[in-house]
Amino acid sequence: MIDPTRIWSLTQLPSLPTVAQALLKLTANPETELRQIVQLVKADPAISAKVVKAANSTFFGVRSEVKGIERAVSLLGPSVSNSLALSFGLTLASAANSPMANHYRDCWKQSIIQASAAAEIAHRIAPASADDFSLCGLLLEVGRLALMSTFETEYRPVLETSQEGRLSLSQIEEEWLGIQHAEVGARLMEHWKMPVAVIEAIRWHHAPYVLLEEQRQHEYFPALAATAVASCAGDVLCTKSNEQARERLDRMARTLLHWRTEETAEFLHQTELSWQQHANLLEFDETQAPADLMMQANEQLVRLTLRAHVACTQATLRQQLAEQERRDLEFQNKQLQKQALHDPLTKVYNRQFFDEMLDTEAKRCTRCASPIGLIFADVDHFKQINDTYGHQFGDVVLQQIVKVFADAIRNSDILARFGGEEFVILVNQPTERCLERLAEKIRGRVEAEPFLFGDMRVPVTVSLGAAISIPGRDDVDLPHRLIAAADASLYDAKRSGRNRCCIRSLVDENERALSQLVLQHRFSRWLVSKRLLDIPSVSRALLECPHENTRIGELAIQSHYLDDDQVNHIIRLQNDTNERFGTAAIRLGWISEGQLVHLLSLQQENPKQLAAAVVRLGMLSAPRTAESLEDYLLSKIPDGHRYLETEMVTS
Ligand code: GH3
Ligand code: MG
Ligand code: MG
Repeated sequence: MIDPTRIWSLTQLPSLPTVAQALLKLTANPETELRQIVQLVKADPAISAKVVKAANSTFFGVRSEVKGIERAVSLLGPSVSNSLALSFGLTLASAANSPMANHYRDCWKQSIIQASAAAEIAHRIAPASADDFSLCGLLLEVGRLALMSTFETEYRPVLETSQEGRLSLSQIEEEWLGIQHAEVGARLMEHWKMPVAVIEAIRWHHAPYVLLEEQRQHEYFPALAATAVASCAGDVLCTKSNEQARERLDRMARTLLHWRTEETAEFLHQTELSWQQHANLLEFDETQAPADLMMQANEQLVRLTLRAHVACTQATLRQQLAEQERRDLEFQNKQLQKQALHDPLTKVYNRQFFDEMLDTEAKRCTRCASPIGLIFADVDHFKQINDTYGHQFGDVVLQQIVKVFADAIRNSDILARFGGEEFVILVNQPTERCLERLAEKIRGRVEAEPFLFGDMRVPVTVSLGAAISIPGRDDVDLPHRLIAAADASLYDAKRSGRNRCCIRSLVDENERALSQLVLQHRFSRWLVSKRLLDIPSVSRALLECPHENTRIGELAIQSHYLDDDQVNHIIRLQNDTNERFGTAAIRLGWISEGQLVHLLSLQQENPKQLAAAVVRLGMLSAPRTAESLEDYLLSKIPDGHRYLETEMVTS
């Protein structure tokens, strides 16, 4: 009888010396692929168990159970797996001159055969589980390894008696030691917190069929059945007088796997072939003492650790370098972008950017028939200022003027240096009135601004010329015409005495009237007219609303004023007549002017989105805003009820 508790604290089992030697060679070579290491590890129960134990330890934080070597290695990564593989343990007792040598060989041989057999079975009944089954097969004899390495004196007679063949190994173990190797292995693996399937496979691998049958309801039963049959195959291929073992294999395969005798024979044949490929693992190189190998492994481990550390440091350095390069590039890019878009002296947008912007805005306004406007501002008698106070002072004046401009305009307006002492403002959603007001505001502020040359105040004024248009569908030359008109207004201002504003409108009477109606119709106007909000607040809320640019035809469909066919009809007509969509729809008698005004106002400003912005900015409470929106819709919009119910503009 033995006290097996000594076994439970084992952290290491002896490894096959050949596997240890090969691992040393492979890990020394930086070209070795992880796959080659995995192949070797899969032949050694001790290292395999160690790797799987590590992958299942809480340290690596893997949630699901790791039941196979391949998955364990892929989770642990090459450096950890290599280190684990190299931390093998060897035993002097496996050397040729030791009385235990043959017992160790038998045990390793049987382990490898059982792993191959379990994999063969998996190929036939559960191909996806080959890795898991093969690990179970490989570990079936860990109890024997543990007993050999811990209780050599007590266990040797057991093994020798079992070779006589009268009683099975398990029977002798039970009688002489009070515990069987299956139970020892299972309990050791329990201490190592190995997967349940592995533990149970080991526990039941010598059990009679009837006991196995009772396990059928467990999810690990397939692994149990496979390893029980694999264990029989191991007995057949490892015992000399194997008739009894062969009978047991046939019986187990028939009852557990429903195999016919021929199938079992074929399986046994394949298992033997695959064992022969591994047979050389049992040809130990006896010149290499275990102590030497262990020392080499330790040195190799140190080298590996160093190599991993160097690689890690290099990677960090490379990453830092790349990060620095990226930051430099980003900075240069931003600088370039700034240079490309901004005027170096005054820091406002340059002419190129303005041209681009005007082009884009002109296209948008042409699509939506919405007003577009700009203001030119030119410093009066600037040459004189330069001549009197010097060019440097002239530069300072330009910089100061730009600040006055920037303060006077809205965030949504675009200020650019057009050239020399001439600046331009592209005004967002302009009306004639607002252009006039803005130009006058700028003029007054520049006039009032103190420009100081030392202590002396130098009078500086600007002349301003504005232009506004509501582009028609065929307005291809809009930017050019608009600039020419603004320039002409500026000329008017200069001619009529400087320090003043002039405006030209390219909007025809009908357009002007319509746009006036649309403007009056907008929810923002309504909010102001009802004194619910002031103009600055409404402007701020409008800036929060995304620009949607929805086509008028689409809005007409969404509002149920027109159907798809009607819209398509008008679009086809437009190709010939170049008429505006709304004009055509009214001419055809399909919508009223009131409906058109509603559609155009929707196109310029989405009431529901404006309401949302007003609430978001905390300008009005949500219930108050909703009530106002409803009032507005019911009083202003033909079919306002219907609009309230549509989802089209809410987003
Ligand atoms: P007007 O009232 O008719 O506009 O007269 P003006 O003198 O302002 O117009 P003119 O076009 O005759 O002269 C503009 C001057 O502006 C000439 C040019 O040297 C000067 N100028 C252009 N760019 C700069 C600049 O960046 N810095 C300075 N200091 N002067 C500039
Ligand atoms: Mg000038
Ligand atoms: Mg000039």
